[in-house]
Amino acid sequence: MGIVEGKVAIVTGGTRGIGFTIVREFLKNGAKVALAGSRQETVDAALAKLAEEGFTDNVMGIAPSLTDPDSVAAAFASVVDRFGRLDVLCNNAGVSSRTPLVDYTLEEFNKVMSINVTAVFVCTQAAARIMIEQGEGGSIVNTSSMVGKYGQPSGFAYPTSKFAVNGLTLSLARELAKHKIRVNAVAPGVTHTDMVDALPDSVIKPLIESIPLGRMGEPEDIACACLYLASDMSSYVSGAVLPVDGLSRP
Ligand code: NAD
Repeated sequence: MGIVEGKVAIVTGGTRGIGFTIVREFLKNGAKVALAGSRQETVDAALAKLAEEGFTDNVMGIAPSLTDPDSVAAAFASVVDRFGRLDVLCNNAGVSSRTPLVDYTLEEFNKVMSINVTAVFVCTQAAARIMIEQGEGGSIVNTSSMVGKYGQPSGFAYPTSKFAVNGLTLSLARELAKHKIRVNAVAPGVTHTDMVDALPDSVIKPLIESIPLGRMGEPEDIACACLYLASDMSSYVSGAVLPVDGLSRP
């Protein structure tokens, strides 16, 4: 029996990278999962990939606009229609940017804040409304970042947005505790996704050498932390921002 057996989860940014791995680990561990992507096309591709791996019955795809409350509410309602309830929301969708301050445009700043912060608010509100009505608690797991603790030397809006995710996590953990809804975050360090694969060896090698645990994080490392925070094994944990970074800290 899997550690999230019978639970129903929504994972935003579930079409690739860390989010796709969260979806797969949740399915392997007995959950029913709705993966959310930005476009129906990428959602369908992710569902096809999961089908090849034998995951068909307990997974569905949604493609709401994550910053539009009506679109999110309708998509989450379709998940409840299909799977009967909602227990877990992983707010994982995110965008990064390394633009220096002097070149940063308001448009770029607003884009980062919109998907990394506004979408977390909109999705958490929609999920909490469902969970409160169900009356059986729930778990919200946000994907933050270790740069949300230490900052980064360029692209200030990204760490700024993750500091906001941590603030939202700590505050909503307190607000929603009375409903037995737990709110936590995982804070990955550099994690081995396609984006990292595209970097040259000259960048990757020194990076790995600087990590005390001697390797880069894999998406599975982050997914397993999410699995723990989604499961009843963490039923007394709320308001935590869990580093998953191989101790890679300045
Ligand atoms: P990724 O770019 O591979 O995946 C990002 C996901 O977010 C995709 O599924 C994408 O479709 C979705 N997304 C982006 N913009 C969207 C939008 N407007 N609407 C809906 N969905 C949208 O990145 P990843 O590395 O897998 O990152 C996942 C999360 O992990 C992000 O929140 C990121 O900030 C965080 N993170 C990643 C790393 C890393 O090293 N990879 C480190 C720390 C934190």
